[in-house]
Amino acid sequence: MQSPKTPIQEIKDPLFDKKGVKFFVKRDDLNHPVVSGNKFRKLKYNLEQAKLEGHNTLLTFGGAFSNHIYAVAGAGASFGFKTIGIIRGEAHETLNPTLAFAQSQGMHLQYMDRETYRRKSEPEVIEQLESQFGKCYILPEGGTNQLAIKGCTEIISEIDQDFDVITCPVGTGGTLSGLIAGLNGAKKVIGFSALKGDFLKAEVNRLLNEIDAKNLNNWSIQTDYHFGGYAKVKPDLVSFIQEFEEVHGIPLEPIYTGKMFYGLFDMIKKDFFERGTTIMAVHTGGLQGNAGFDFRKLE
Ligand SMILES: *Cc1c(COP(=O)(O)O)cnc(C)c1O
Repeated sequence: MQSPKTPIQEIKDPLFDKKGVKFFVKRDDLNHPVVSGNKFRKLKYNLEQAKLEGHNTLLTFGGAFSNHIYAVAGAGASFGFKTIGIIRGEAHETLNPTLAFAQSQGMHLQYMDRETYRRKSEPEVIEQLESQFGKCYILPEGGTNQLAIKGCTEIISEIDQDFDVITCPVGTGGTLSGLIAGLNGAKKVIGFSALKGDFLKAEVNRLLNEIDAKNLNNWSIQTDYHFGGYAKVKPDLVSFIQEFEEVHGIPLEPIYTGKMFYGLFDMIKKDFFERGTTIMAVHTGGLQGNAGFDFRKLE
């Protein structure tokens, strides 16, 4: 899996001139036509490992709207693996666009009740799945493991533009951990939580610990821009996304990247960044999710 180096694009805005900041976007949404964004980064070394171990099947977990499920289905089809998606909850009569795509890529979809799903990493549940499907390369929900983090460190090694602060949205914290590990104490890293709550800091510390990148304190997680929680959206956010695309020509989605860019603009307005700061925002992709998202339903 060769990943092309993704472009870095400067965006201009009267707000940035007024506040004396520069703003670049690392366009990881352009890294693969199907498996775009950070999910591609996270899968790269896992697919290599699966091949090395002689697996021909990938098995993973996710909700019905999961970008990770979408990415695994697409990657499996592109790189020669069978794929199995264990989907949380009940089957619906018609598949949403994410699951319809996954199925079209050959992914076998199987639904798991919420109670069992909560115990999906326990040996009993895994054994049961392996007795049904045979040996599989198992990827965790959201795709975060040590190899995924290793893939995300490469975002840093690709950047040849100077910057002071780098940012990304946060779901499981895998991508953020990769940026932190890749910088290894240099510069500043800010993650924007797409979820409500304060648990992600501990989770990222746990992940960094696992890869021996602990004791770094050049990073933080912004928890003010979740808009009510995971996949929750407000009209304000929707109009920001629409205007951002009109003005800058870069599409965003409302679950992750829209919230981060909204947060960054708000923080610039509120003078969070000193004059002279150069910001590098990682666009983590996820745009295929827009197909399953009805903006008109939002009130
Ligand atoms: C999954 C996803 C994230 C979250 O990444 P984590 O590594 O789980 O924190 C961010 N942005 C987009 C677009 C995603 O699809």
